[in-house]
Parts: sequence; structure tokens; C-alpha cells
Amino acid sequence: MTRVVVIGAGVGGLAAAARLAAAGHDVTVCEQASAVGGKLGWYERDGFGFDTGPSLLTMPGVFEELFAATGGPLRDVLELRRLDPIASYRFADGTRLAAHADDDAFAAELDARLGGGAGGDWRRGAARAARVFAAADGPFLSRPVRVGGLARLASARPADLATVAPGRTLRGLGRGLLRDPRLRQLFDRYATYSGSDPRRAPAALVSVVHAERHFGGWYVPGGLRRLGAALADRAEQRGARFLLDTRVLTVTRTPGGRVDGVRLVDGRLLPADVVVANVDAAALYGRLVADRAGRRRVRRATPSMSGFVLLLALSGRTPGLGHHTVTFPANYDDEFDAVFAGRLAVDPAIYLSSPADPACAPPGAEAVFVLVNAPPHVPLGKAGAPGKAGTLGKAGTLGQGLDWDRPGLADGYARQVLDLLAARGFDLRPRLRWYETITPADLERRTGAVGGSIYGSSSNGVRAAFLRPPNAAAVPGLFHVGGSAHPGGGLPLVVRSAQIVAGLVGPA
Ligand SMILES: Cc1cc2nc3c(=O)[nH]c(=O)nc-3n(C[C@H](O)[C@H](O)[C@H](O)COP(=O)(O)OP(=O)(O)OC[C@H]3O[C@@H](n4cnc5c(N)ncnc54)[C@H](O)[C@@H]3O)c2cc1C
Repeated sequence: MTRVVVIGAGVGGLAAAARLAAAGHDVTVCEQASAVGGKLGWYERDGFGFDTGPSLLTMPGVFEELFAATGGPLRDVLELRRLDPIASYRFADGTRLAAHADDDAFAAELDARLGGGAGGDWRRGAARAARVFAAADGPFLSRPVRVGGLARLASARPADLATVAPGRTLRGLGRGLLRDPRLRQLFDRYATYSGSDPRRAPAALVSVVHAERHFGGWYVPGGLRRLGAALADRAEQRGARFLLDTRVLTVTRTPGGRVDGVRLVDGRLLPADVVVANVDAAALYGRLVADRAGRRRVRRATPSMSGFVLLLALSGRTPGLGHHTVTFPANYDDEFDAVFAGRLAVDPAIYLSSPADPACAPPGAEAVFVLVNAPPHVPLGKAGAPGKAGTLGKAGTLGQGLDWDRPGLADGYARQVLDLLAARGFDLRPRLRWYETITPADLERRTGAVGGSIYGSSSNGVRAAFLRPPNAAAVPGLFHVGGSAHPGGGLPLVVRSAQIVAGLVGPA
């Protein structure tokens, strides 16, 4: 029986623990926090409850497969509710759009609201997204990535490579397929699902459009956090042990270089034959393990955007506010320019989530989660230079952040976001009972993600996907699972990474 230590109980760590325990391994999960879930967090106060991380679940089949493979169907432990519309959009010119789950209804909505053949354009875009998804799904999203992956894809299936259009950006693809500027803006937004800039992210990210439209947008009544709890239960039922409030300091190795355990911050050693790290890549290769190749790879990538979160406890319900709403600015590029240069966006896109769920608010009240893209946290050293947490990347990468702990910054930006929402038709200020902020610095402290980056490295650059750390590290016996490893961030891909890792570790 292989002794496996999983570092971190984020969704990737939980899914890997469940699979490896179900395969007969002896699994121990070390989690620094006092609860499981990682970025899939939950905050409660005065009868209000908020998912603090993910609010939209896509590709539910990935979760169904995970639960079925580890002992019993997902539907026995969790209810998933399909959303329709998936989201509502408000554009700077006042146009409103409901993204109906049904493709015909959505195309009709586009024709009615935007005109100019927008419905047909969208269908062309969606068809392209479906082809890209099909080309990427098998060879890339479900398998370990290896050096030269792009070249192998090219030689194995040249038609697929043409579909994926590796030299093109998501912005370029959208410009080619869509004429309406609002539709183009909508397309651009899918780059932010991996914390990236549509002007630099590869066209392959259009597959996210397909993942959302084809497989639908879903909610878990009671909050998405219940997914983390259900995964932990499943792993425990299959024999995994959980050590909460247990921080791993380093991965230990034999003189020959193979992993042989982990050292905890209290000095204890846990022996292991295999270590599965669910830790952010920058932290793993910066602090937990000495691996020059891994460290170099992380340094070459641009960190993904982080997020500024506002949790609003409101009296009454907001008229016209559905489950998911996005309000767009007039100039989207300003936001990407600012955030990737380490500045706050003055007029950002603002995302709101307001589940009509009794678990989230007391009767007659409303819990609204607000998310704005934000630069990473880089603490200022005494001399005004980026401090320790910001020094991992080469000069100019992690250095391009903001000291989110600067007094007054979070509250000032919260007020700015509330004012912007009021200008865009949602004046929530008069009904506000209280609010909480979660900054990139808070996210870093809670989950260990360096700078509070949501997805590890961004997909900026045509080869970015191949710069993500592979699931099998160069250090023998070390595996990497989660949003900063291959195949990327977001709940479904993180669960895919656990499937890949379990396959690499093999049976007991
Ligand atoms: C605000 C926000 C909104 C999001 N929205 C969505 C969405 O709508 N849909 C979607 O699919 N995805 C969304 N995501 C992304 C999604 O949350 C992540 O991709 C996913 O949850 C990451 O899982 P992970 O396995 O990488 O682990 P993480 O959640 O990063 O967890 C890592 C775990 O490791 C622990 N850890 C770290 N270091 C140590 C150590 N040294 N010792 C022990 N434990 C350690 C941490 O405490 C943490 O529990 C969002 C994320 C955020 C922050």
C-alpha cells in the first residue's frame, strides 16, 4: 500500500484524495486551514451566508464521473440546479441581455436586443467553440501535458491544430467572428475565466464558451461550498485521514532525490512514498520544494489576475437582479491595462451573484457577492519596494501588484464599486446593512496562493498553457494537482487534474 500525503484540501486535493483512497492507497490530507475547500470558501454572519469563491459550476459531468468513480452517484449526496438564464448582462449603452440556457432562445434574444445578425454571429462563434473544445478536450484537458505538447498535437492531428489556431488570440478570434461590439465584449470576458487578458490569451480559450453554453451553468442549493464538504466526506468514507490546522513547511527527500515525506511547521515529519501537492505553484516551487526547473517555469509565467470581493448584506431584494449578473464598462481594455500593470481599474466590469436561496439570507433580505478583477497583492517593503512575497517572479511580474493591506484601500475601493453599481442601475447603498471585503491579500493568507492569484499563472501568451507546471513534477514521487497546475483553474479543470494525478500514481 502506498503512503500518500496530500498537501492542501482545496477541490483538487480533495478530489485526488478521494480517488487515491478509493484506489486503495493510504491517504493523509494536511490542510493549513481549519476547514476544507480552499478557494471554495464560505462566510457566515447574522444569518447571511456567502460563497466567497466560485459561484458558477460548469461541466457537471466531470463531478458526476468523480463521484461515480469513488463509490456512488453525485445525486445521492448533492443536488445540482441548472440555471436559466445562465447570466444576465448589462452593457454601458444600457442594453440588457439574458443568456438563456437554450441556444435558440439565446440567439433570438441576441437578434431582438442587438440586431444586425448578432444571433447568427453568435451561433458561428459557438460552433467554433464546440470544435475547439472537441480538439482540446481529449489530447490536452484530460491528459498529462509533456514538453513539446503543442508540437505533438500538430503532428498527430493537424486539422485539430488549425481549429485551435495556436497563433491567434481570443480577441482576434472574436473580432473575426462577431460584428457587434457588445458581443465582442462578451466573448472577451471568457478570458477572465482563467484570469487572463483577451488581447494576449490564446483563441483556444473559446472552449470555455462551449463549456458554459453546452454543459450549462449550475448552482448547488445551500451554496457551492457543499461540493467541498461532499468531496471530503467521500474521501473520508474511502479511508482518507484529514489533519486540519496542519501546515506543511517542506517536502522532504531521500539523498537520491525521491520524496520521502513532508515536514510540518511544528517540526513533525510525516513519511510518504508519494506527495500530492495541492498548493499554488508559486508557493510549491518557491518555498516547499527545491526544484530549479519547476521554479524557472513558474517565474516565466505571468500570474493570473486576482479578485476584489465584496460581500453585501442587504435588506429586501434587488429588482431585476438575477442569479448571475455582469455589468460591463464602456472601455474594457482600460481594465486589463490597469490590472496587469498593478493598478486598480477605475471603471471595471462588475460581476454580481445573488442566489435566491434561503441558506444565503434571512427572510426579507438578500446576500450579494460582488467580484471585480484586481491586481495581485505585493506587500511593500520598508523602502517602498516589493517585499518578500512579491519576489518570486522575475522583476516586473509579481512586482506589478498592489499592497492590498494599505490602510483604507479596500474600503475606498468598496465605496467606488458601490458607486459604479449605482451608476449602472443597481443602487444597493440605501439597503446595505453591512459589507465585508476580501482582498487579494486576504486570499493569499487564506489559501496560500501567492499574491492572491486566482488561477496560478494566466493564459496570457500563446504558449502559456504549456508553461503550467505538469502534474508529474520532475522530483520523483511528487505530483501537483489544482488550479495552478495542468490543465488549469476553475472547478472542472481542477477535478480533471486530480483524475490525471490519480492515473499517474496508479493503483495501490
Ligand atoms: C473569488 C473567486 C471566484 C471564483 N469563481 C469561480 C467560478 O465561478 N467557477 C469556477 O469553476 N471557479 C471559480 N474560481 C476558481 C476556483 O475556486 C479554483 O480554481 C479552485 O477552487 C482551486 O482549487 P485548487 O484545488 O487549486 O485548490 P485551492 O482552493 O487553491 O486550495 C489549496 C489548499 O491548499 C491549502 N494549503 C496551501 N498551502 C498549504 C500548506 N503549506 N500546508 C497545508 N495546506 C496548504 C490551502 O489552505 C487550500 O485549502 C474562483 C476563485 C475565486 C477566488
